[in-house]
Amino acid sequence: MRNNRSRYKIRINGIVQGVGFRPHVFRAASDLGLSGWVLNSSHGVFIEVEGLPEQLTGFIRRVIESPPPLALIRNYTIEKTDPLGYQSFTIKESENDSTRNVMISPDVATCLDCRQEIFDPGNRRFNYPFTNCTNCGPRFTIIKDVPYDRSKTTMDSFPMCLQCQEEYENPINRRFHAQPNACPFCGPQITLLNARQEIINDNVIELLKKGSIVAVKGLGGFHLAVDARNKEAVERLRQRKRRDVKPFAVMARDLETAHSVCRISPEEEQHLVSYQAPIVVLDVLENNGLPGEIIHPGLRTLGVMLPYTPLHFLLFDDELDTLIMTSANISDEPLIISNEDAFQKLNEVADYFLIHNRDIYNPCDDSVISVSPYGTRHFFRRARGYVPGAIPIPTSSCPVLAVGSELKNTFCITRGNEAYLSQHWGDLNHYNNYVNFQNGIERFKQMLAVKPDIIAHDLHPEYQATRWAKAQKEVELVGVQHHHAHLASVMAENGLQGEVLGLICDGSGWGMDGAIWGCELLRGDYTNFSRLGHLNYLPLVGGDLSSRRPYRMAFIYLVSALGNKGIEAAEKLLPDLPLAERDLILQRINSQSEILTSSCGRLFDAAGAILGISPVNGYEGQAGIELEACADKNAHGLYEYCIGEKADMLIMNSLPLWSDMITDINGKLPASTIARKFHATISDMFLKALITGREKTGINRVVLSGGAFHNQIILSDLINSLLGKGFQVYHQQLVPPGDGGIALGQAVIASERRK
Ligand code: ZN
Ligand code: ZN
Ligand code: FE
Repeated sequence: MRNNRSRYKIRINGIVQGVGFRPHVFRAASDLGLSGWVLNSSHGVFIEVEGLPEQLTGFIRRVIESPPPLALIRNYTIEKTDPLGYQSFTIKESENDSTRNVMISPDVATCLDCRQEIFDPGNRRFNYPFTNCTNCGPRFTIIKDVPYDRSKTTMDSFPMCLQCQEEYENPINRRFHAQPNACPFCGPQITLLNARQEIINDNVIELLKKGSIVAVKGLGGFHLAVDARNKEAVERLRQRKRRDVKPFAVMARDLETAHSVCRISPEEEQHLVSYQAPIVVLDVLENNGLPGEIIHPGLRTLGVMLPYTPLHFLLFDDELDTLIMTSANISDEPLIISNEDAFQKLNEVADYFLIHNRDIYNPCDDSVISVSPYGTRHFFRRARGYVPGAIPIPTSSCPVLAVGSELKNTFCITRGNEAYLSQHWGDLNHYNNYVNFQNGIERFKQMLAVKPDIIAHDLHPEYQATRWAKAQKEVELVGVQHHHAHLASVMAENGLQGEVLGLICDGSGWGMDGAIWGCELLRGDYTNFSRLGHLNYLPLVGGDLSSRRPYRMAFIYLVSALGNKGIEAAEKLLPDLPLAERDLILQRINSQSEILTSSCGRLFDAAGAILGISPVNGYEGQAGIELEACADKNAHGLYEYCIGEKADMLIMNSLPLWSDMITDINGKLPASTIARKFHATISDMFLKALITGREKTGINRVVLSGGAFHNQIILSDLINSLLGKGFQVYHQQLVPPGDGGIALGQAVIASERRK
């Protein structure tokens, strides 16, 4: 018998740490009566296993083909060799070394088993807010270094009690090697304090029911929580957060509650209950009992998430079923993660503080997604639950650091055929965001054990990320044009090779001709691109001021399209435009010395302002977002536009549409119909431009990217019509189409150029 035995040496890479992989291997080996060992190292999981051929085949099938739910095997090798005569199967101690090939798991929402335990009065973890197991719990937000072990997490200050230790060491226990394993006796604890920072014994649910605002320390940062059905309380939160008109997200107690406030498709439901537990942007139901005008002013959609930590489950009861859970940051500053910061920065906002003593090491906002009309995932913000998951890329070269854009910044580091996009840092003009961005780069470098010697950056000389890149020593710098990076980002996540047509529509990006680009028809691949066309240029009077005050861009469009008639029309349509500001803008338009822009974002702003929807933006892109929300999906009709050609460049000219639009406004056509006609016009114009682009180049593949493609009407109108004309169309599903996904494109371009 013994002669038939052989030994397999197996090495597995991917997400195999902290996801119950070793117990999975151990159980498979024990069940099949195999001997040997399994070892977690920073090179991946190593297994040596001995037995008869059919046993070994069964083992491979179980280990590789049905891994634990959270594991992701990227690749593996098996080497067959002579047996050594192992007597039993063991789990060896983790190995530590300098080259690391493992991946860190993102945080995982509380699993069903743990949920049952915290609601079971007979369980020792009844009501315990830090219950977790191998299948769920904190990961990325508490991990300080690899390989993933308790001593390298912020759980290092909580030695396990005997009972927890037993679970941890028992290979058939659900908590076997669950690094953050804890219980009420040995683990972190919550504390409730009032605004004077005095510890109190009140029930937090009762406080919330009374309309109090509670700062809650969560997984990746603090939230501000308030009863979403209490209009007066939500209003108070709005007032205390000052100037903030951004839509709030809500946390629903359970799926049933979510269904009672929003319309939820099966795909949307899948995302809501997924272990990533993102905020899913959903269509609201009318009369859902929530004060919608305060929670999501001007929008028909609402961001909803389900509880994803045990602490969240303990904030609800039979009566309290919906909470506002908004990131506790002051305007565009970073998410608050420490208790001290919360006390200091939220003392005028929160009535109470629900804090705990487990540190958050890596700040991580909630992710925000929606499901496109095609059932695909659409990222507004990719963070908790997804970061630091790897994105496969079709290229393999030296490690590259791409530093991303200015607003909605994320950076990206490549290692082999994988790209690691960071969590969301926000606007780098805020000093603390910039500090987090820098710390984040160091942490990702350490976590991935790479030292990038190429840094890719945007061409905009004033971006903080660009300045940072240029200040680095002993690295090769690669400047990447903004819209080319957007194009490459879609290509990379779709694994495309060769040349594509790209329609890239966003707010602004540094152009190659001194203008601010923002609606660009490109042809290109990973190394080069050329510009085939763009939206007609208009003077961008006052730069960034135009994105904050859409009425300015509306006026510029009216004057450019209609001359004196436009000035007349503006008097009626743009009551927010002061005369002095108007005259100044006119003067500067006439001077012809203003910087020009082809921005798509500003075009949507202008339409929103003319319809009186959002003359002033309270947050980036508000006018465009509300214009989309206002559009009546069933309305029909198109305005006039034209596609011209100037020095071999296609010009998508939107100027003809404004006179038609004003006629509709004067004819008292509903704003919702006009908004729909505007959308239809723009996507028809994009379609015509792409058809002309295909005629000129013979390229049939189209990639769509840029923040304007957060607009689902434009995205689905355009994809439908492109498919109808025989195009192959690609859009973004793994990273945001906006600037939050641009670092991926920068990284791939820099890596290909190096080759
Ligand atoms: Zn669990
Ligand atoms: Zn314990
Ligand atoms: Fe952009």
